[in-house]
Amino acid sequence: MSSSSSEGPVIDRLVAANQRYAAEFTDPGMDARPVLKVAVVACMDARLDLHAALGLELGDCHTIRNAGGVVTDDVIRSLTISQRALGTRSVVLIHHTGCGLLNLTEDFRHELEMEVGQRPSWAVESFKDADQDVRQSMERVRTSPFLLHTDDVRGFVFDVTTGLLREIDPANGPES
Ligand SMILES: [Zn+2]
Repeated sequence: MSSSSSEGPVIDRLVAANQRYAAEFTDPGMDARPVLKVAVVACMDARLDLHAALGLELGDCHTIRNAGGVVTDDVIRSLTISQRALGTRSVVLIHHTGCGLLNLTEDFRHELEMEVGQRPSWAVESFKDADQDVRQSMERVRTSPFLLHTDDVRGFVFDVTTGLLREIDPANGPES
């Protein structure tokens, strides 16, 4: 697989786009504290345009993204800084349909170890049921001792085919 295309290496294209962006850019004079006092934790999936999907503007929110939108220790680190140093109060968690993590298992770690001779220190955090993983993620945020604000935590699954968010009820357990 090549990182080049007819328009040249991909990172060169990004740098060229930045030069065009900066040419039109004026300093908005914003504070680092998010205007809406909200942090969004979401999957890194390329089909999920958080600002467009949630009607967010520059400066409105913190966005914390990783594979799956899973609440890991490092996400708790970012949320802790978001709340304690930068004034956010609400947390939105977003998983999505068709997530790459739905096809993985913790065997991924074992296979990595067999291939490279070293077991990763991190969990894969794969899941079979996005709804249930959103519930678990909400619970990890709500029970974190480091966060100041855990009363406004809501979780959703984004449908990549309709663009709609579906809210997950934290009280409903796994479907039987
Ligand atoms: Zn995903």
